Amino acid sequence: MRFCAISSGSSGNCTFIETQEHRLLIDVGLSARTIEGMLKEKKIDPATISAIFVTHEHADHIRGVGVWARRYKIPVMATAGTWKGMERSIGQVPGELRVEIVSGKGYRMGDLRIESIPTCHDANDPCAYTVESGGRKVSVITDTGMTTPVMYKHLCESDIAVIESNHDIDMLMHGPYPAALKRRIRSNLGHLSNQDCGELLCRVREYNPNGTFLLGHLSEENNRPGLALSTVSTMVAEKLGTSGPIDLTARDRSTDIYIV
Ligand SMILES: [Zn+2]
Ligand SMILES: [Zn+2]
Repeated sequence: MRFCAISSGSSGNCTFIETQEHRLLIDVGLSARTIEGMLKEKKIDPATISAIFVTHEHADHIRGVGVWARRYKIPVMATAGTWKGMERSIGQVPGELRVEIVSGKGYRMGDLRIESIPTCHDANDPCAYTVESGGRKVSVITDTGMTTPVMYKHLCESDIAVIESNHDIDMLMHGPYPAALKRRIRSNLGHLSNQDCGELLCRVREYNPNGTFLLGHLSEENNRPGLALSTVSTMVAEKLGTSGPIDLTARDRSTDIYIV
């Protein structure tokens, strides 16, 4: 499989996953035109994408979904709650392209199996995704205020995964956000901090020493890429002696294409 975090962060999210038979996008959270440009830079023809899977209805995940579906006539998969939440903002998606999925279920598409993973987030019916093909597994787990045993299991089995490292707790608490927003971000329905991500990775690494983990959905206001990477890597290295492969995603450029 090939895997690339096209864009990740509180300003817009999109992940590219390729198997022998399919090319998927998880979320189109920037304008369709911006994502098209970022794919082309990676020599990926936007017209070859076969489906979009949406995690939840927040703007940083759906901005380009409607335009993309209409332009390329490809199906959009989302839970009933996410459809309800995004319908007005993405415009009309023709009935035949509108697919409702159930959170927590697995779906087969040619040579791949994709499973939605319920997340803990302040949206209608949010989920993350894990994709398996040819004995390999990749996952994208962001926008969750807590981790669950199902997330942990999939991360232990993943060859590569984006996991959320949204904010540094000190930067958030001493930063300019209003108190209610700080509480929302820190709540069980908010976002994982660098410290939460480090704790999760310490547990996952014990069972998955070689998987590559990409820190994702970094806040522009309450985090710094170098700080996220050093916080998480240091926590894992202090516990296990080595951090293993941990990389960053970015909001304004795509990661390398990883092959697993
Ligand atoms: Zn988000
Ligand atoms: Zn969100």
